[in-house]
This record gives sequence, structure tokens and C-alpha cells, in this order.
Amino acid sequence: VGSAAERLLDLEDRHGAHNYHPLPVVIATAEGAWVHDADGRRYLDALAAYSAVNFGHGHPDLIAAAKAQLDRVTLTSRAFHNDQLGPFCAELAELCGMDRVLPMNTGAEAVETGIKTARKWGYEVKGVPDGQAEIIVMEGNFHGRTTTIVSFSDDPVAHDHFGPYTPGFVRVPYGSADAIRDAITPNTVAVLLEPVQGEAGVVVPPAGYLQAVRDICDEQRVLMIADEIQAGLGRTGRTFACEHEGVVPDLYLLGKALGGGIVPLSAVVGSDEVLGVFGPGQHGSTFGGNPLACAVGREVIALLNTGEFQQRAAELGQRMADRLAAADLPRVKEIRAHGLWLGVEMVDADPSARALCEQLLERGLLAKDTHETTIRLAPPLVITADEADWIVDQLIAVL
Ligand code: PLP
Repeated sequence: VGSAAERLLDLEDRHGAHNYHPLPVVIATAEGAWVHDADGRRYLDALAAYSAVNFGHGHPDLIAAAKAQLDRVTLTSRAFHNDQLGPFCAELAELCGMDRVLPMNTGAEAVETGIKTARKWGYEVKGVPDGQAEIIVMEGNFHGRTTTIVSFSDDPVAHDHFGPYTPGFVRVPYGSADAIRDAITPNTVAVLLEPVQGEAGVVVPPAGYLQAVRDICDEQRVLMIADEIQAGLGRTGRTFACEHEGVVPDLYLLGKALGGGIVPLSAVVGSDEVLGVFGPGQHGSTFGGNPLACAVGREVIALLNTGEFQQRAAELGQRMADRLAAADLPRVKEIRAHGLWLGVEMVDADPSARALCEQLLERGLLAKDTHETTIRLAPPLVITADEADWIVDQLIAVL
């Protein structure tokens, strides 16, 4: 017979595709930073759906916005206008200090949209010969799972056996502005980067890197595209990770937390010159810009405009990083921290990061391995100082 969780795990194992290897916990309910499994056990969620739940599970303002909109209208398609899209675009553009917004649904779609934007801008504004555009991407990148995006991934698990691959991408080492300068040709239309590489294990580039990239892009007339899908919207202690260096990219790619953990909502945000390249029929999505997602997104923007979450991320992240730095952790090679975002890299894979995450699970803490040797933590930005301390206590106990 087994527990409720065992039966649910078995159903998924038999009838779901095996494209994930989740930790063995079946979440049934959640509130704030905490979740309950199908058998009623409580866990602190220190992953927050890879930063999509930055405001905690079921934030009352976000739930209220979603419920109110559910009773009004949820989907119109872009064949017609809806009364949430205009305000959402205006409010998000203002948050970003930009002119225009192109809404999509998933992060990968925002990345695809950024790529299409850069190519079209390259041909129509910069004057690159048609079909020749090059985009510079980074080693260790993670931008999603579409065939074009995995074409420029250097992670064999994400990349292999999904070809033929999309051409037009040049990969350089992450963190080296010189490598970007050397890779630029007259056909380069964009540099696409994560200001912090999340999936790579919370890899923070050297100080001054983003500013140097900005300068090179300005000199060479190349678009700087910042994928802030995981790094943005409060996680690092600022609204955007690029802000730490006072850098504004040409395009922000946003997703995850933009939908408040309730609906898929992503967006590309940019200037008139750049996002102005699109005409009717050249890009879109049935659900992109739907009124339900826009209503939730507007409430997310309102939460970010308070500044409260950014401040919590900065303070609590520092508190956790300081305590971990002071602890004697023989298994740990490096702790990378940026706001409320931690990558704990082990000296070796014995035990693996996965095994350590299973030990943390036993202790009631949800965290996720990335690659063999790194534990990644991204708790909701609503955790209390006591909860932050408790997370660190559990880490110290298993490390
Ligand atoms: N870009 C970054 C930086 C990400 O971390 C992710 C997802 O982890 C994506 C893009 C893809 O987002 P999605 O899974 O919503 O397609």
C-alpha cells in the first residue's frame, strides 16, 4: 500500500517522462517559505522553484491579484486588447528604466525572443548582411531547453543528441571581457550573458566585468543582453544583478519570479530602437501578455517597487554568508554568495552534492544540487533571520 508519497512517486515514475531527477519529496501544500509533503511533513523551501518563488509561496497580495483577475478575464489572445497588458508593459518598462516590453511565458521563450530581436536589429538597424549575424555567449551558460538554446550550451547533458544545431553563436570564457573583445566581428549583433550564472552553481563574475562588457558593446555597437531570469527581481539584493555595477543592458530577459510563482510570465524589455524592430505577425504567443499573467505581474512589480525584498535579500544573504564563512567546513572548497543566493562547492563528489541534498531533506531543508559538487540555495526572500540561521545550521550539520 505504502504512504501517499510513495504512491504518487510511483505514478510519476511509471507515467511521466524521466527528464528530471527530483529529490524524493512530494509537495502538497505551501505557505511562505514552508511546504508540506503529501504525508504532512514540513520542509523549508530553500530553492524557491529556482527563484520563481522569490516572494514566498502564496504571497497574499499575489494570490489576491490572481483571484480577482480569475473572476474578470483570463485569456483574450493578442487578436484583441486586454485591460491588463498596457499597464503591465508600462509598469515593467518603468521598473527597468526602458521603453518597451514584449511579454512571453517561459524563460526560454524570453531568450528566444532576445535572440530574434538581436538578429533583426542587426540586419535592419546595424546593417549586418542577412543570415550572417553572430551572438557571443558564455561558457557554462544556461538559458533554457529549446533546440536553438541547447545549440550553444556546453553542458553535454543539455546539448548532446539534439542536433542539427542552430548556427550563429560563438562561445567565450565567462568572466573575461578580453575574450569578448577578441570574439567580436563586424557581424556580431549581441553579447548574451547571465550577470550571475545560476545553473552553473551561482558563479559570480569578477568585479568590473559587467561594466567592461557594457563598454565594449557600446564601442562596437553590439547589444548587451542580460539574462536576469534567475538573477533578477530581488534575488541578489537589487532589482537587477546588473545594478551592482551600475550597468543597464540593451535588453533585459526576465521570467521566473515575474509570474509570482503563480503563472508562467516572461518578458523582454528594451529601448524603442531595439524592441521597435518587430512588426505585426513577426513574433508572439497565444498566452503571451494574457490578462491573468499581466495582473499577477503588475502585483509583482508593485512588491518590487517597495524595495523591501531587495533589502531582505541583501541583509539576510550577508548574514548567511558571514556565518558560513566563519564555520569550519572541511568538505567545502568555496562558498559563492550574492544576495540570498548561495553556491556551496564541495572539494570532491564524495559524497555527491545530491547525497548531501538528500541529507538536508531528511533534516527538513529543501536545497538542490547542481552538477556533482555544488549545492545551490535560493530561499524565498520572505524568510526571517531565524529561518536564515536555521538553514545555515542544517548546512553546517551536513558539511
Ligand atoms: N535563463 C536562465 C538564466 C535560467 O536560469 C533559466 C531557467 O532555469 C532559463 C533561462 C529558462 O527558463 P524556463 O525554464 O522558464 O524556460
